[in-house]
Amino acid sequence: MTARPTSPPRTVALPDAVTVKGLGERLGISPIETIKRLMTHGVMAAMNDTIDYETAALVAAELGVAPARMAAPDAVAAAVRESGGDADADETGVPRPPVVTILGHVDHGKTSLLDAIRETNVVAGEAGGITQHIGAYQIERAGGGPVTFIDTPGHAAFTAMRARGAQVTDVAVVVVAADDGVMPQTVEAIDHARAADVPMIVAINKTDLPAADPDRVRRQLTEHSVVVEEYGGEVLAVPVSAATGAGLGDLVEAIDLVAELQELRANPDRPASGAVIEAELDPRRGPLATVLVQSGTLRQGDALVTGLVSGKVKAMFDERGARLREAGPARPVRVMGLEDVPVAGDAIRAVADERTARRLAEEARRAAEGAGASRGRVTLDTLFNEVSAGNVKELVLILKADVRGSVEAIRGALQGLGGEGVKVKLIHSATGPVSESDVMLAGASGAIVLAFNVKTEPSAAREAEASGVEIRAYEVIYQLIESVEQALEGLYEPVYERVVDGVAEVRQLFRSSRVGRIAGCYVTEGTLRRNSRIRVLRNGEEQADVGCGGLRRFRDDAREVQQGFECGVVLDGFDAFAEGDLLEFYHQQRVN
Ligand code: GDP
Repeated sequence: MTARPTSPPRTVALPDAVTVKGLGERLGISPIETIKRLMTHGVMAAMNDTIDYETAALVAAELGVAPARMAAPDAVAAAVRESGGDADADETGVPRPPVVTILGHVDHGKTSLLDAIRETNVVAGEAGGITQHIGAYQIERAGGGPVTFIDTPGHAAFTAMRARGAQVTDVAVVVVAADDGVMPQTVEAIDHARAADVPMIVAINKTDLPAADPDRVRRQLTEHSVVVEEYGGEVLAVPVSAATGAGLGDLVEAIDLVAELQELRANPDRPASGAVIEAELDPRRGPLATVLVQSGTLRQGDALVTGLVSGKVKAMFDERGARLREAGPARPVRVMGLEDVPVAGDAIRAVADERTARRLAEEARRAAEGAGASRGRVTLDTLFNEVSAGNVKELVLILKADVRGSVEAIRGALQGLGGEGVKVKLIHSATGPVSESDVMLAGASGAIVLAFNVKTEPSAAREAEASGVEIRAYEVIYQLIESVEQALEGLYEPVYERVVDGVAEVRQLFRSSRVGRIAGCYVTEGTLRRNSRIRVLRNGEEQADVGCGGLRRFRDDAREVQQGFECGVVLDGFDAFAEGDLLEFYHQQRVN
């Protein structure tokens, strides 16, 4: 650790967005220290990156500084000033294409659907029409705006990105095969999309098959609280066939509709920032990264920094292998020119020049080395502190259990827990062992995994270890419920009650040149203890509430004095005793 906060202010006003440097200045810690602390929360940010209020507040709270949110207009202005440019405010942004991820159970047709959508929309004759797999692609449509698809289907990749801090998806399409219906990974996909707070569309696929039963799919979805439009809900469910191409147009239209409601905007007139979608080492061209530009415009020649890696855009290509000179918001591009292979899910951004990029990467590297194993997320035991700091208002849980009956029983019991201000939020529950994707979901959502009579897959255990996710194993339901209850109790403001240990009456006063006035007392009730607190009562009115400065029996210091004995009492910061005062010795006891 480098600079420690010298004497941190007790509260700090934070804007909605603040640069890492700005946050450090407000808290009186160095930028490196700030970066390190952010890393322990899984946020990889460079000195000039902007972080949101919630994240900044977390760091402040850790340092014992109470964060206070600044009023919005100031916040925007502050962010603008600090970033030396404009914030990506709505007024300056222009509409941008939506970014879609396809999720669903294995073999329900995610890949086929992505291929079918891509093929239907390949502009004939363009660059030979051959599309490469670069991790994401964008379709151009005659009748509408472009749509970007993330080409790594499945919720594992989706949540892995999220766990690294990248939220790239605007719309999640959950594919359900019409002949197979809702399966375990369908439920997982739904829960992962929900945990990410991403709106969902259902694609009922394989409707070309004789065994297809779209209505059954709609019914089954209802059981998982996904109520489709036909059943009076709000979720659009579109019957499609990746095999025949039927319904694909409707699906894209549905995506448009859902995206429109979100009013997606971005400002193309600023340095680019985005996320790394995929990366590899090409034997000829060196490190190649597929970057989704989320804001600004990426241009050939731009200096880049992502995680610990810096570089420069030597060349950019689209999914058809065509050279691009620039790429605006929601455009996936393959970038050549990074010095090393970056990590998928990491943020990437254009900076002033290569020197700055290298310096930022170097700073991040040093911070990463310093941060070492100090990564920690929410655990049942640390929850209380997090809550006292105002960071946690709900206990987010994932439940894996041996059989459906236990899932239902535990889910039911958990629903009854929690109360004012603190909620239990079960974001995913299923049967089967704790998997890597459960752990990633937990990491991305600040959740704790409860494992009831199930094992943890070795890969999941490794991931949990690396990301600091807590997995709690139980064999008895009531023990599981009890520990959740205890954690919730920790979430409440503790209430203390005074418990009186003993009472003494002041009978005589002495003066000591060393300690001031000493009260000569007689213990009328209970036991006086040296480590108690003391209320001085005169005619029933409190004169002082202070600590004990000394307790003496004859000439000796005493730890306690019993009822019926005499003793001398010295108090911390109070010596205006009068004969007849009552000294009430007490301690605080937590009652909730
Ligand atoms: P993924 O695991 O979800 O990516 O599923 P795939 O796209 O690999 O598809 C699994 C299988 O279902 C493959 O054999 C596909 O050919 C088949 N399939 C996918 N979509 C359809 C469809 O609409 N109709 C039919 N009949 N088969 C499909």
